Amino acid sequence: MGEERYRTCQKCGTINLNRDYCSHCGHIVNINLERKLKREEKAQKKEEQAAKDKNQVTLFFERVLDHKNPFIRYTAKFFYSIWVVVLAIGSFLALIFSYIAA
Ligand SMILES: [Zn+2]
Repeated sequence: MGEERYRTCQKCGTINLNRDYCSHCGHIVNINLERKLKREEKAQKKEEQAAKDKNQVTLFFERVLDHKNPFIRYTAKFFYSIWVVVLAIGSFLALIFSYIAA
């Protein structure tokens, strides 16, 4: 390989050879790596937000769907499918409104 990459630190101006982090101040100098890290961080935050967005109704259904009584399970499944459709329509409308507003 032997590919030599010089990267100038955005923070202190030190020129770093084949390094991802600045040898002087430790600031990240590999832009690709920085982008990748930021992407991963964003994806993780999104996941956390999605877990938070699970509201009480969804949590309730998740519990009932594991119920011992099959009759209650089927009833819950029926209402849960309605709930999922309502959520899907809701998010679809939100998407449309955001397009109209933009
Ligand atoms: Zn630096």
